[in-house]
Amino acid sequence: MPQAQIDVSEIHWLMDMFRTVDVGLVVLNCDYRIQVWNGFMENHSGLTPSQVRDRYLFDLFSEIDEDWLRRKCDPVILLKNRAFTIWEQRPYIFKFRNYRPITGSADYMYQNCTIFPITSNSGEVTHLCFIIYDVTDIAVSRLELEQMNTRLQQLSKIDYLTKLYNRGHWEENLIQEFKRLQRYSHYSTLLMCDIDHFKQVNDTYGHTAGDLMIQKIADAIRLNLRETDIAGRYGGEEYGVLLVDTTLEQATHFAERLRHSIEQMVVMYNQMPLKVTISLGLAEFNSTMKQHVDWIEAADKALYESKVSGRNQLSCYQP
Ligand code: GH3
Ligand code: MG
Ligand code: MG
Repeated sequence: MPQAQIDVSEIHWLMDMFRTVDVGLVVLNCDYRIQVWNGFMENHSGLTPSQVRDRYLFDLFSEIDEDWLRRKCDPVILLKNRAFTIWEQRPYIFKFRNYRPITGSADYMYQNCTIFPITSNSGEVTHLCFIIYDVTDIAVSRLELEQMNTRLQQLSKIDYLTKLYNRGHWEENLIQEFKRLQRYSHYSTLLMCDIDHFKQVNDTYGHTAGDLMIQKIADAIRLNLRETDIAGRYGGEEYGVLLVDTTLEQATHFAERLRHSIEQMVVMYNQMPLKVTISLGLAEFNSTMKQHVDWIEAADKALYESKVSGRNQLSCYQP
């Protein structure tokens, strides 16, 4: 075959590849006028190469932030560098609708893009070539994963029954506060409380009634909290409340108010009025405590004191 014929057939299949390749190929001159537009771009934009030829990019696609893209392209023209854009930074350059069946949840096509310079024989940059990659599959699964992780993180902090913090997360907060108090001389007080004779509620009215009571007491705690206080479900029918920047004296008011409001509370279960009381123990942080568990133990001691002295009362830990 003569050389000229080989060259022509080579150009022919190169053009075929250029038309059918599954990435977008766009060539602009340095005035941002479109020179080349492949089949991918035509299919997704609905605009043929002849419709876009020599058109100013930013006139044709008003969704493109001109300042941003020029800032990206300046070093490509001046320094002959490559530039990249990623969907995490900007979801797309060209706003194309997403037609993929599996990732149907996305409204538009997420795109990554590479921009590189095309130079003349004399070495100066005459054109910019854009390669547009459809990364919708990757973006959608990543975004879904992130949403799931956020949800899981929430779930792993919250107690299912009471919607207070669960023990693990509450104790983590307590540890942080404990460390803060070791560094700076602030006052914070820990409250532990426990439902009195709760076994009787379960035994008399059933476990579901018991669950309801645990929820209602959590609601009462929440209602009495200030924004900075941190409440958690410490165990079955035991709660912990960290009263931040609160002296023992101030905490006493909070605890007494809570005790009183629960004493007054009537919970209706199957048309039966249920009433319970709680016992409470308070311990203010002091610098002789070496670990956060010492603080919990101190509040627990005070709680035990309330139990043995007849329940439905508040005791304070005396160091
Ligand atoms: P006290 O006044 O000494 O605290 O007596 P009490 O009966 O409350 O104490 P005890 O610790 O003996 O009983 C607590 C009961 O709480 C035992 C357990 O079956 C029940 N309990 C723990 N978690 C749950 C729960 O999630 N739901 C229900 N319904 N009951 C629970
Ligand atoms: Mg109890
Ligand atoms: Mg208990």
